[in-house]
Amino acid sequence: MLETINLGKWELKVDVELTKEQYKKTWNLCECEDCKNYYKATQQVSPQVQGFFKDLGINPSVINHLSCFGDIKENGLHYYIGSYHLVGTLKEQDVAFLSNQTEPYTYKLDENWEISFTTDLEFVPGFFPSPVIQMDVDVYIPWVLK
Ligand SMILES: [Zn+2]
Repeated sequence: MLETINLGKWELKVDVELTKEQYKKTWNLCECEDCKNYYKATQQVSPQVQGFFKDLGINPSVINHLSCFGDIKENGLHYYIGSYHLVGTLKEQDVAFLSNQTEPYTYKLDENWEISFTTDLEFVPGFFPSPVIQMDVDVYIPWVLK
């Protein structure tokens, strides 16, 4: 069943249950130290960020595409960008609006999490059912590996 979720300028129609099922499958995740740190650190994010992911049916510790830039904030947080996927659609006029922006339009979950949605898909796992929305994240998280 599709649920309507409004986030900033976006109106998403998301099949939360079907999305949740995808995150329970076996993913072929990168096992480098940067990625392993991300998987672990995202298990410890704020209740607000956890709630956001839960509402969409996404497990924040399962992500197919991740880059760590080695940038570190004064407070010791590490900068990553990544892409998550959801089963659902974006409103056509939103896609049109967003593709006319010169700067990417982002939505802030808090001071460390900025997200945006697109239907220009990359790195979608082969088993993911259509239609797919991609959620790109820009995030600062702590280094939690020893
Ligand atoms: Zn990696």
